[in-house]
Amino acid sequence: MKINELFKKKKVVYSFEIFPPKVNDGIDKILNTLDSIRDLRPDYVSITYSAGGSKNSRTKEIAQIVKNNYGIEPLAHLTCVNSTREEVERAIDGLVDIGVENVLALRGDRIEGEIKSDFSHASDLVEFIKSRSDINVAGACYPEGHPESANIVEDIRNLKIKVNKGVTHLNSQLFFDNDDYLKYIDMLRLAGIDVPVQAGVMPLVKASQFGGIVKMTGAKIPSKISRMYSKFADDPDALAEAGIAYATDQIVDLLSSGVDGIHLYIMNNAYVAKRITDNIRPILDKLNG
Ligand code: FAD
Repeated sequence: MKINELFKKKKVVYSFEIFPPKVNDGIDKILNTLDSIRDLRPDYVSITYSAGGSKNSRTKEIAQIVKNNYGIEPLAHLTCVNSTREEVERAIDGLVDIGVENVLALRGDRIEGEIKSDFSHASDLVEFIKSRSDINVAGACYPEGHPESANIVEDIRNLKIKVNKGVTHLNSQLFFDNDDYLKYIDMLRLAGIDVPVQAGVMPLVKASQFGGIVKMTGAKIPSKISRMYSKFADDPDALAEAGIAYATDQIVDLLSSGVDGIHLYIMNNAYVAKRITDNIRPILDKLNG
């Protein structure tokens, strides 16, 4: 099913993001994760692509398993900046061949000295995909502005170019301050970007996330989270509980504010996905009638 149809049917779309195992690693771990998250009834699962620039991504393999073995709709990520037109063409055709109907079109992070000129921006990839398939295309957006943009207005102008090329919904970068996110959505609507936007929520359940992914994205850390980290960084169980509570509270507030969807960055952690989904399931079901 094309994910744009989901947004027509549901008040709130609820999805998870997972990452594929490394090329030489076994597949059991991700299968265990999928076994557990199937019961949580996500509307779809997105699978990252070659994060860090490696082209040896198992996104396609995992997308096929998600679709055929688990009956969950996959959203396959695809990056373009370090790839040639031919490589991207092969990747798209490969996804179409196995019946994948949804792609998250991304530029990818620039690797110094490796830039190939076929695609400069994700909008180029969106245009390319739309010119050769009827696959449904989603895109990424940045509630605090993309780190390379001079300011949020410039970033939103560029986002509009991408959406106008054929993006049917946006998944947001992770953020921790809902007020900033809601203001951002208002700005998108004022700019005439009308596609549904899913709020990207990452539960902070491990101390390593603070220096790793959170630092990488440059997300603003509210004082509530700083206090949580200072107090519990050396106690993994307490930090995990605090992180689950924060993410639950954040999602409840987003749902109360009428967001189009929640995209949970679960980092392949089925336990965290279950705890949060159990907390919010009654609210999701109420909203979706
Ligand atoms: P773009 O939309 O191209 O934007 C990047 C920058 O270029 C922005 O500053 C934008 O304002 C500017 N820009 C865009 N279009 C134009 C234009 N026409 N003219 C001038 N400037 C322009 N990375 C991975 O490697 N693998 C993944 O699986 C992955 N998944 C992600 C999922 C989500 C939901 C998000 C938010 C990010 C993900 N990323 C992933 C990271 C992403 O690849 C990086 O953030 C990358 O730096 C930008 O990608 P983009 O698609 O947003 O780029």
